[in-house]
Amino acid sequence: MAAITTVSESKELKNLNLIAAHSHIRGLGVEPDTLTPKATSQGLVGQQRARKAAAVIMQMVKEGKIAGRAILIAGPPSTGKTAIAMGMSKSLGEDVPFTMLASSEIFSLEMSKTEALEQAFRKSIGVRIKEESEVIEGEVVEIQIDRSVTGGNKQGKLTIKTTDMETIYDMGTKMIDSMTKEKVLAGDIISIDKASGRITKLGRSYTRSRDYDAVGADTKFVNCPEGELQVRREIVHTVSLHEIDVINSRTQGFLALFSGDTGEIRSEVRQQIDTKVEEWREEGKAEIVPGVLFIDEVHMLDIECFSFINRALEDNLAPIVIMASNRGHTRIRGTQYRSPHGLPLDFLDRVVIVSTHPYSPAEIREIVSIRAQEEEIDMSPDALALLTKIGQETGLRYASNLITTSHLLSAKRRAKEVGVQDVERSFSLFFDPARSVKFVAEYEKRLIG
Ligand code: ATP
Repeated sequence: MAAITTVSESKELKNLNLIAAHSHIRGLGVEPDTLTPKATSQGLVGQQRARKAAAVIMQMVKEGKIAGRAILIAGPPSTGKTAIAMGMSKSLGEDVPFTMLASSEIFSLEMSKTEALEQAFRKSIGVRIKEESEVIEGEVVEIQIDRSVTGGNKQGKLTIKTTDMETIYDMGTKMIDSMTKEKVLAGDIISIDKASGRITKLGRSYTRSRDYDAVGADTKFVNCPEGELQVRREIVHTVSLHEIDVINSRTQGFLALFSGDTGEIRSEVRQQIDTKVEEWREEGKAEIVPGVLFIDEVHMLDIECFSFINRALEDNLAPIVIMASNRGHTRIRGTQYRSPHGLPLDFLDRVVIVSTHPYSPAEIREIVSIRAQEEEIDMSPDALALLTKIGQETGLRYASNLITTSHLLSAKRRAKEVGVQDVERSFSLFFDPARSVKFVAEYEKRLIG
């Protein structure tokens, strides 16, 4: 079958690409208590002041002290603004939504600017929905037991939280297999006869913690007197408000989620969803998870967008908005006025600014080397030194791209590692922006002259 790339697919790919460049980042790399950044940690190198500031902000976010504000990361190109935003989102937890929006994108979609922004905002709010399902007869479940349960108090509803293997292993419980009278230990696989509540031990289950992770960590025990055990499974899934909107929008339907072609969503649909989610929240069936909306090249937005964001931040369902700009004083689009980073002054007032600075050669070297490791590419020391030099002169993004192209060239000549010649050849084949501009300018001169 012929592969046809649709517009929406390519949009998705673009996002993947944006994220792939930062796949080595796993957090802000700060000490949990003091929030002091380590020189290199969790994939982040240097930029300690910005990382510390980012960590303090995240702490405030977690404590609910910074609602209705936005954060601006300002600094020269390729100084890790996006990387730090990634680190911030990773420090929030697995199911916290993170949406990336390049400002120019909202001018090209087939919808109004404000609708595009509204969708981006709603993609950044998660709704954690809890569902309980009964374990069916004969089903194999894995049990996990909280230390507090081992004291013998087995009355009432217990939520089992621990996934720490050592704790589980050490614990053992007082629960007795009702057939064999054997103790059921944490980690045992048991089957439950729902009618009689009788449990049968089927054997031990895990060898490594990875196996363990594969089984839902949210198994629940409900009222387990000696010898009798009922297990309920709690399924938790997080979806974004936008996904709920799309699924419930009569004109779109859930298939639109796969094509990415969601069109405009009517405001009545959104209002209904907000009311519904509020109901679930009150009934304890759902929790709101404010995520992160990252807006890159924010100076590209115009005054209408800024007033939309200003208003949206007032909403009690607002995500944390992180913006990045590499411009200094510039014109606010849609007006004649100039302002810092092209943001309107009333909006700037509610923005917390974090700045990033150019890297030292040693830091660039470290980042290039982390990127090579991430792509599982071996590199000779000379090649690394050359890429570092290129990174210093042309920016990290270009140097990072050269890692991939140099690797293709080294693979072609069946070399085990990337050598200087591969980097040199890549450098001559693929231009960085500065060289490319110069080349075109010279070419134009020749044509006109
Ligand atoms: P621009 O202004 O051009 O948008 P930026 O400041 O957002 O640039 P990034 O895209 O974050 O820069 O950085 C370029 C590349 O270098 C990315 O692959 C990024 O992950 C990596 N990088 C940048 N800074 C760091 C850092 N401190 N530690 C690890 N990797 C980094």
